[in-house]
Amino acid sequence: MKIYLNGNMVNREDAKVSVFDHGFLYGDGVFEGIRSYNGRIWKLEEHVKRLYASAHTILLQIGMSQREMIDAVAATVRGNNLHDAYIRLVVSRGEGDLGLDPRKCSKPNIIIIADKIVLYPQELYEKGIQVVTVPTRRNLPEALNAQVKSLNYLNNILAKIEATNAHAQEALMLSSDGYVAECTGENVFFVREGQLVTSPVHLGVLKGITATAVMDMARARGVDVVDQTFTRYDLWNADEAFLTGTAAEIVPVVMVDGRQVGSGTPGELTRKLREDFKTLTQSEGYPIYEVSKQ
Ligand code: PMP
Repeated sequence: MKIYLNGNMVNREDAKVSVFDHGFLYGDGVFEGIRSYNGRIWKLEEHVKRLYASAHTILLQIGMSQREMIDAVAATVRGNNLHDAYIRLVVSRGEGDLGLDPRKCSKPNIIIIADKIVLYPQELYEKGIQVVTVPTRRNLPEALNAQVKSLNYLNNILAKIEATNAHAQEALMLSSDGYVAECTGENVFFVREGQLVTSPVHLGVLKGITATAVMDMARARGVDVVDQTFTRYDLWNADEAFLTGTAAEIVPVVMVDGRQVGSGTPGELTRKLREDFKTLTQSEGYPIYEVSKQ
């Protein structure tokens, strides 16, 4: 495996950064998780744009253009001879001293890893997963805006531990005022009387790139799609529910807090959207290999 590290392709064993990196010391940095399918990187420009917006928000200068970053991501996937990959793009604040002050970190570390990821066994995509509401609330947007995909995921990791302790596959996280926000790395959707509903970003929810694509796909099917606040009650009494995320893709939810959702099997719209997603991801995206032939 070859890792992109600050402009060079290095072996995995040599892909090392300093223990003084503020990404390691403080979670000071930003990242993206991206997928490629069939030799094309799905929504690459959107992911890079979001990375740069996260970096801009925390006043982190990446030091290369978005176009250069797009090329670097494609080159990393190419360099590992992958067609279907999970890509982790990380920009940390870089090496500094033991204090918090980011001005002491002169140069960010830019890392691109292209590998594989399997979040859930195939069986669960066919049967659906169970989620439980966890005590840990989603970060207050006023404290850390959820649009910043920062290297500090402790809030979500605590929620994931709580879900695992409760023998559920995923954690349903609420906003500070008790509305359904999102899961630890996925956006939440439900279907009720033909309408598709998801949580609004002002609750402290990441605007998911998969979620945006799914909303477009649903609208293209003539489905009414809204983002509005909703409670656990709405999920318990939904006809269908599912989660979306780059790593998870579209995963049906059949049980929430011990309540069966709909028929207890993946719903019809969920299945259709999964098919649409598969078709689109196989044919659209930034071509990895055509670039090298130019
Ligand atoms: N919410 C959170 C907290 C996440 O970390 C992710 C994964 N990036 C998502 C939602 C889903 O976003 P996307 O579809 O852009 O991967």
